Amino acid sequence: MNNLAPYPWQQQSWELLQQYRQRERLPHGLLFNGPAECGKKHFALRFAEAVLCTVNGSGDSAQHHGKACGKCHSCLLLAAGNHPDLVLLTPQEEKKTIQVDAVREFIQDATLTPQISDSRVCLIMPANAMTSEAANSLLKTLEEPAANNHMILVTEHATHLAATIRSRCQIVNLPQPTRQQSLQWLQQQQPQQQWEELLECATGAPLRALSFEKSDIMHRRRQLFDSFAALISGRQLPLAAVAVWNEEISELLLKWLYEWTLDLLRGREAGVEHMRDLLPRRELSSLIPSLDAAKLIALIEQLVSLNRGMGERNLNRQMQLEALAVGYAGLARL
Ligand SMILES: [Zn+2]
Repeated sequence: MNNLAPYPWQQQSWELLQQYRQRERLPHGLLFNGPAECGKKHFALRFAEAVLCTVNGSGDSAQHHGKACGKCHSCLLLAAGNHPDLVLLTPQEEKKTIQVDAVREFIQDATLTPQISDSRVCLIMPANAMTSEAANSLLKTLEEPAANNHMILVTEHATHLAATIRSRCQIVNLPQPTRQQSLQWLQQQQPQQQWEELLECATGAPLRALSFEKSDIMHRRRQLFDSFAALISGRQLPLAAVAVWNEEISELLLKWLYEWTLDLLRGREAGVEHMRDLLPRRELSSLIPSLDAAKLIALIEQLVSLNRGMGERNLNRQMQLEALAVGYAGLARL
């Protein structure tokens, strides 16, 4: 029944929640906060199952260590995706936001008395998707929840949530696993795979690495790197590079560009032997002496501010990418 457990790197956060449950002091509003693709949703669902389980619902069973039993009526209903006491609020398929109407409907469901389990668990994923109007309409319910009802908000940007929401929840941080933990877990999922490069490509997020394994992402990363290298060494014009970049998911593209650029700076300032990423180290090290450190730093700052703007509406993405590409083209004194 391994799938009823949180991921190994989430054990400490799980223990913390068990302590609350054993003392019967589980806060009514919980905010699970942690980086993308590191298992927040998995954790939230495992926790909801555990709270709803009618055998181990109180969390004091030493045998199951607070995990759901997997066999009771509640657990079977959850497995079938059909439990009346689990209320989910997620963005509608084609939209990325959670609107106020959806929250109002959710609140109605959330305040009903539990039908099968001792409590009702209400999950909002991702909490950031709520518009400010939607978030405001939730405040009263968070402040005065119905008895035996638990609200769980899941987010990767707790700091972006309104302070009024945050202050009404107990924040539980879900950590990013260490490289070692990720590799060990990935190895268990698929022992034949070489995970190092995939994990690097997934910027350290194990679930992303797992999804990459089944995609052509390594190939796309390679293409992006080729255009990055060609641009810096004067073999490609900025606009041609932007055409290639534009095909990539923005968040990943920026992360990769950031890491490669930082690595070039590392090579420029500390020496090629200190470069971490395999691609720039292998293929751009001969260019390192000709790179302008001040320009590298300016590009890194540009990437950081671009990345910060990603969550917001980004109307001039094309222009920003062009400015970036022009910056790279002028990096080396060739
Ligand atoms: Zn159960």
